[in-house]
Amino acid sequence: MSEVKLIQSDIERCQAKIRKTDPFTFGGNPKYFRCEKSPTVIVSEKLPGKDGLTGSMSLCNECLTALKKQNDIEDFNVEILN
Ligand SMILES: [Zn+2]
Repeated sequence: MSEVKLIQSDIERCQAKIRKTDPFTFGGNPKYFRCEKSPTVIVSEKLPGKDGLTGSMSLCNECLTALKKQNDIEDFNVEILN
């Protein structure tokens, strides 16, 4: 049996990736940049995702708000960081 190790949540920096649109990208891929803010919460999935793993990540307030817009927050456990 192989053990799957999840990456530890980074409590120093928000782990969300923000999509930035480049007005001069002609048919290229959208670029993603990692958020630079300090996280306020750790969000973890209650149920395994598409990859079969229950992931977790740290998020700042803004990214948590974005997550809530795109997902049902009831599907996640939210742990508040001090
Ligand atoms: Zn963020």
